[in-house]
Amino acid sequence: KHKIFSGAFDVIDKIEEAGGEAYIVGGSVRDYLSNRTVGDIDIATSEPPQRIQEIFEKVIPVGIEHGTVIVRHRSCSYEVTTYRTEEGYEDFRRPDHVTFVRDIKLDLARRDFTMNAIAMDRHGNLVDPFHGREAIEKKKVIAVGNPVGRFREDPLRMMRAIRFASQLSFDIEGKTRDALLKESELLAHISIERIAIEMEKLYAGVDYKFGIKLLEETGLRHQLPILWGSNITKDIPGFPLSHWHEIIPYYLIQRPSLSIQAFIKSWKLSNATRRKAEHLVKALRMYDENQSVTPWLVYQLPEELYESFVNILFAIGWDDDKLTNRLYTIKRSLPIQAPQDLAFQAKDLISIFSKRKKGPWISEVMKEIEFYVVSGKVTNDYEKIKEWVIKWNPPASS
Ligand code: ATP
Ligand code: MG
Repeated sequence: KHKIFSGAFDVIDKIEEAGGEAYIVGGSVRDYLSNRTVGDIDIATSEPPQRIQEIFEKVIPVGIEHGTVIVRHRSCSYEVTTYRTEEGYEDFRRPDHVTFVRDIKLDLARRDFTMNAIAMDRHGNLVDPFHGREAIEKKKVIAVGNPVGRFREDPLRMMRAIRFASQLSFDIEGKTRDALLKESELLAHISIERIAIEMEKLYAGVDYKFGIKLLEETGLRHQLPILWGSNITKDIPGFPLSHWHEIIPYYLIQRPSLSIQAFIKSWKLSNATRRKAEHLVKALRMYDENQSVTPWLVYQLPEELYESFVNILFAIGWDDDKLTNRLYTIKRSLPIQAPQDLAFQAKDLISIFSKRKKGPWISEVMKEIEFYVVSGKVTNDYEKIKEWVIKWNPPASS
């Protein structure tokens, strides 16, 4: 019992020995009580960050001014935050000003939803002034305090409400839902980067279909950039999509009028996401053309994206059983893994056609050679490729 928390309990013990108070709080308590995998463990304490730095040897000061440090204990990290209240959400930005307090209940009161406002002491006893445990049992997302006020304070909480509904398969309690409807326009004040993080989690949740419906019902979707045309619920994926680089190809392959660039720009996503989405869209188009996975497709798709490729196919409904296995089987039997594995390189091509002027034809012909070798039409052997190129006698420019 409570085994996953044993390291965190050690940290709490130390704080208590030093005369302080500490509890496990937030998502890990919620996930523990709802029998979900516990992720990062957060600890709330009565002690100011300077005291925590004195008590522990390994402390990383990540946000002293907000009261947060990371304590390293037995190669695990614990975010330890001093009890605080937050005031002055000016212009809907995150509070620039926090006040440290001495009472855990005041700290719990600043939290967004009752299921996230439960504290657990080092014996497993709960401090649960907002009946979060009951909300978890009834599977309800309920705002702490007055939902309208809490959403006005920080409109990102509206997106969080819906992504939790999706992740945990919870409903949203009546008053909290009414407040979403009423205040949805306030989401316009929140930066798109922060909304994008919630959106990604929403799409990956078990109940993502419900989450997407909630975006429609509450009107929040009007605050989200492009992408879904007039009706966000029109093309709901058939399976959850884990990342933006899966979400983008899913929509793009069905709506060719959209572009990767439009997604990246309007949601301010990273270049890494763009590159992954580009690879996946290319692979999906090839798959669509050939109605199967070809060696050329497998060769060009980075291995780290195989899982995403399969996920998207399932989401579109082009299910293909055992596809993952086939991708790896084809990958293993490819004659080359990269252009440098070719037995015939650009210098060889140039020496054969030594009378020709150098130009773009060289890389074009090399690409063709790569394609023919990968596709098994020419053996990866210097003489065989040479023979094939001479017979082909490619045009010097195209
Ligand atoms: P996840 O499993 O996604 O990390 P989480 O509940 O741990 O979920 P975090 O964003 O890590 O969510 O935040 C940790 C805790 O901080 C929450 O459980 C909640 O108590 C509080 N919290 C986070 N964001 C807000 C917010 N915008 N308003 C109020 N409280 C918040
Ligand atoms: Mg968390």
